[in-house]
Amino acid sequence: MTSETAGRARRDHVGDVPVRMLAERVGSTPFFAYDRAAIDARVAALRSALPGDVQLSYAVKANPMPAVVQHLARAVDALDVASGAEMRVALDTGTAPGAVSFAGPGKSVAELTQAVAAGVLVEIESPLEAERLVEAADRLGIRPRVAVRVNPDFEVKGSGMRMGGGAQQFGVDAETVPMLLKTLHDRDVEVAGFHVFSGSQNLHAEILAEAQERTVDLVLRLSDDLPAAMTYLNIGGGFGIPYYTQDQPLDLATVGSRLESLMATRVRPSLPSAQVVIELGRYLVGEAGVYVTRVVDRKISRGKTFLVVDGGMHHQLAASGNFGQVIRRNYPISVVAAGAGEGETAVETVQVVGCLCTPLDLLGDRVSLPRAEVGDLVVVHQAGAYGLTASPTAFLSHPVPLEVLV
Ligand SMILES: *Cc1c(COP(=O)(O)O)cnc(C)c1O
Repeated sequence: MTSETAGRARRDHVGDVPVRMLAERVGSTPFFAYDRAAIDARVAALRSALPGDVQLSYAVKANPMPAVVQHLARAVDALDVASGAEMRVALDTGTAPGAVSFAGPGKSVAELTQAVAAGVLVEIESPLEAERLVEAADRLGIRPRVAVRVNPDFEVKGSGMRMGGGAQQFGVDAETVPMLLKTLHDRDVEVAGFHVFSGSQNLHAEILAEAQERTVDLVLRLSDDLPAAMTYLNIGGGFGIPYYTQDQPLDLATVGSRLESLMATRVRPSLPSAQVVIELGRYLVGEAGVYVTRVVDRKISRGKTFLVVDGGMHHQLAASGNFGQVIRRNYPISVVAAGAGEGETAVETVQVVGCLCTPLDLLGDRVSLPRAEVGDLVVVHQAGAYGLTASPTAFLSHPVPLEVLV
């Protein structure tokens, strides 16, 4: 194993099903498979590391497969959605509407109306959105429960995607929140509290803990302008998972102990009725998923070996390095022989490419793998979040792959 492939636990099973047998069971490649036991283990690890009175919310956009959302609905306390369609999937699970939150810029009047009618908590992203929401609620004769999503007056370093601080399309700038609250004061709306989400894919426990501390400082300042005691405080998430060889897994114990002392010293004394929520997407599901493809062709071009697989960037864009990454690195990849008798196989260095007619469709660059033949399976790991639904499935017009929850 070279540095390209070393250091990552690579699952050759999903649940207790070997990938080779799973491919037979699914009946066609490529496909995505998600491991419910791995999801459960991740929830259990979070429960044991985080304070008991902090709720866990699943950010559905990470993986909206209905079976996955249904499974997580039973394991976590709340679901966070970012579109009307995600809201339907969340409500279909039987989750209490009050435990569903709806975030995201540009919610349509139709989506706002649906959320109010359902009794979902709406996270307000702008003054105009607040106005639209109140109008929709007035029309329905319902007093909606909302939170204000705050664009913090600080930035969090080390996030793969920054979504707070500076100028943002997300949330209401912290310094203008008091003004927004004043305009909502005499309207028929319950402002339950705040939501602050600073960024995504952060592997640094110290930075995450510091962001949570600054978030609490900020909401304590803003809470003076709330009309009633704060009952909802969503402090975001951003917990990252290791995708690349040099990534170290997040030190969850440190995040948990720092949050426990933050709860003890600041939150419980000052905001005794606030339900504190952490919302996580990829941390719950990312490592529980694989994307399984099959080798269609093996060719040598001027000394380089290419494994051409039947999947690609149209299903798993992030693994091709085209989902916001600055530098392209390989996701962990492994080979599963199609036949039963696996003997010793020599390792070779290959290009793993997808079946799209574009050089962007690169899944593995100079990756060391056991020699794979046509018909063998190539498995892309860490594929449980931002996979199928974050990929341009219509590009090149291939069929959409199946997804299974094992
Ligand atoms: C996307 C998103 C998340 C989930 O981010 P992950 O990196 O998958 O944990 C959580 N909250 C909000 C508001 C989001 O937009």
